[in-house]
Amino acid sequence: MEGTLIKMEESRGGLKTPPPISRYSLITGRQAAPKPLLASLPTSKYAYKPPELSVDHLVIGGGVVGLAIASALSRRWPEKTTYLVERHPHIGQETSSRNSEVIHAGLYYPKDSFKTKLCVKGREMMYEYCKENQVPFKMTGKLVVGGKGSRAYLEKLDHHCKSLGTLSPPTKILSGDEARELEPDLGPEIEWALLSERTGIVSSHDLMASLEREIDENQSSEVVCSTSVVRIDPHMPDDVFPTSSSHGKRGRDQSQEGWVVQTVTSNDGLETDGQSDSLLARVVINSTGLNANLALNSLLKQMSDGEEAVAMYYSKGNYASYKGEGVKNVKRLLYPVPDMKGDAHSHTSLGTHLTLDLNGNVKFGPDTQWLSAPDPTSSIDFWEEKLVANEERLEEMHRDITRYLPNVRLEGLSPDYAGIRPKLIPPGGDKSFMDFQFLFHKSRELKLQKVWQNLYPSHLEGGGGLMISLLGIESPGLTSSLAIGETVKNWIARDVWGDEYHKNPPKNKGALNEEIGGGGADDWA
Ligand SMILES: Cc1cc2nc3c(=O)[nH]c(=O)nc-3n(C[C@H](O)[C@H](O)[C@H](O)COP(=O)(O)OP(=O)(O)OC[C@H]3O[C@@H](n4cnc5c(N)ncnc54)[C@H](O)[C@@H]3O)c2cc1C
Repeated sequence: MEGTLIKMEESRGGLKTPPPISRYSLITGRQAAPKPLLASLPTSKYAYKPPELSVDHLVIGGGVVGLAIASALSRRWPEKTTYLVERHPHIGQETSSRNSEVIHAGLYYPKDSFKTKLCVKGREMMYEYCKENQVPFKMTGKLVVGGKGSRAYLEKLDHHCKSLGTLSPPTKILSGDEARELEPDLGPEIEWALLSERTGIVSSHDLMASLEREIDENQSSEVVCSTSVVRIDPHMPDDVFPTSSSHGKRGRDQSQEGWVVQTVTSNDGLETDGQSDSLLARVVINSTGLNANLALNSLLKQMSDGEEAVAMYYSKGNYASYKGEGVKNVKRLLYPVPDMKGDAHSHTSLGTHLTLDLNGNVKFGPDTQWLSAPDPTSSIDFWEEKLVANEERLEEMHRDITRYLPNVRLEGLSPDYAGIRPKLIPPGGDKSFMDFQFLFHKSRELKLQKVWQNLYPSHLEGGGGLMISLLGIESPGLTSSLAIGETVKNWIARDVWGDEYHKNPPKNKGALNEEIGGGGADDWA
C-alpha cells in the first residue's frame, strides 16, 4: 500500500491548476464562452451552531464517488464513525445516475494523470467488485473507429495504452474489414479501428445500492438522506464541547479537532425549512459533484488574502435512444475517433458514440452542450431544469452517427436523458485537458492556506481536522470510483489516523478494504 501512496503523490507534481478568474474573464470575452458559477454554501443564512454530535468521517454527497469513499472508510475502520449525508431523499440522483454506465478501459488520458491511474485501477476493482457483490455488468468490449485519416491517431492511442504499465488496457489495431467482421453494421468509410476488450458496462444503480448497503451494515457508519450541508466552519479546539460518549461516538479520538458542519434535514433535503443540526467531524470529504466549489468558496474569507472563488462550468451531455435499422448486429460500444484540438489529450469530447445498456438497448451520446449560469453567485441548481435531452440536437447527432453507422435513421432517434459534467475550465482554453482535482485543507491556520492545495499542508503547526475536496470528477469518475475510495482512504490513514493504525491495526482482517482490489491492482495508481 505504501507504494501506492508514493506513486500518487509523485504524480501530483505535474498537475495543471485551473486558471485564476482573471484569466477566465479574458476567455469569457469571447462570444460563446459559458458563464461559470462562483457561488458558496448559504452560510450567512445560518448562524453558527455549536456541535451536538461528533463523528470521525463525514462524507458529503451520496453519488457513486462519495459512496465508494464512505464504504472504503467504513470497511477499513469499522470501529470509527463514518456518516454520509446526501441532500436528496435517495442516493445517486444526480450525475451518478445520468451517465453512460461505461466501465472505461482508460485509453485516452495522459499517462501520469489521476484520470488514467484511477481509471485503470478502478476498472479492475469494478469488475472484481461486481463479481463478488452480484452487481450486473458486462465486458462488452469497444471499438474506436475512424476513416482514412485516422490511422496515425489510432496508432498513437494504441502505443499510449501499451505504455501504461501493469494495468495497461489491452488494445489492438484493426483494418476496416477486420472491424466490419466484428461489427457488420459499420459503414464502408471506416478504414481503421482500435479494439479495447476490457471496456464494459455496469448498472450504476445496483453498484450504488450495494455500496450503500455495505455502509449501512456497519454499525458505526450510516447513509443519511434528505440532509443538506449548509455551513462549514473550522472548529476552534478551545471551544467548550461536551466529550461524553452520549453525544456521539468518535472512536478513540477525543481531540476536538475538525470541522463544524451544519446540516438541514427536510423532506426534500434541499435546504428549505427543516431541522438544523450541527456536528463536529474530524475528517470531511467534500464529494458534492456539481456543487463541489460551494464549500471551498464559503471558506475563502478565512483563507490567505487574495484567494479567488473556484469557478464551476457546466457541460451538458444529451442522450438519444434508438430503435430501428442499422444497429441490429452491434455487440460492442462504438466510438468515433474523438474531435481533436491540438494534442492527443486535449479532446473536447469523445464524439457521439453508441453505448448499450445491460438489456441490449442502443443509445447514442452524450454530446456536448455548454450551459451558462444565469447568476454567478446564486441559483446553484440552475442546471436542474436543463436535465431533459434536447430534441433539436438530434439532427446534428444523426449526422455524426451516420459517419460510422450509415443505416441509422433519424426517425428512430428520440431524446432520452441528459447528464451534466462538472467542469473546472471553460472550452477553448490553451488546453482542454483537466485532471481530477483533490484539494486538502486543515481546519487549523486556514489563514495560511490556499484554495488550490493539492497536498496536505503538513508544514503547518499543530493538528487540525482534514477536509478533502474532490473537484472536476467527470468521466471516468464512475469507473474510477472504487479506486478513488481506496486512495482517499489511504490519504486519511497517512494524514490523520496513520500512527494510530500502525500501532493498533484492526484485528478484523475481513474489514480491510485493501482486499477489494484483488491481485495486482494495488501495484498501480
Ligand atoms: C454525460 C455523462 C456521461 C458520463 N459517462 C461516464 C461513463 O460512461 N463512465 C464513467 O466512468 N464516468 C462517466 N461519467 C462520469 C461519472 O458519471 C461521474 O464522474 C460520477 O458519477 C461522479 O460521481 P460523484 O459522486 O462525484 O457526483 P454526483 O453523482 O453528482 O454526486 C454528488 C452528490 O452530492 C450531493 N450534494 C451536493 N451538494 C450537497 C450538499 N450541500 N449536502 C449534501 N449533499 C450534497 C448531490 O445531491 C449528489 O447526489 C459521465 C458523466 C456525464 C455527465
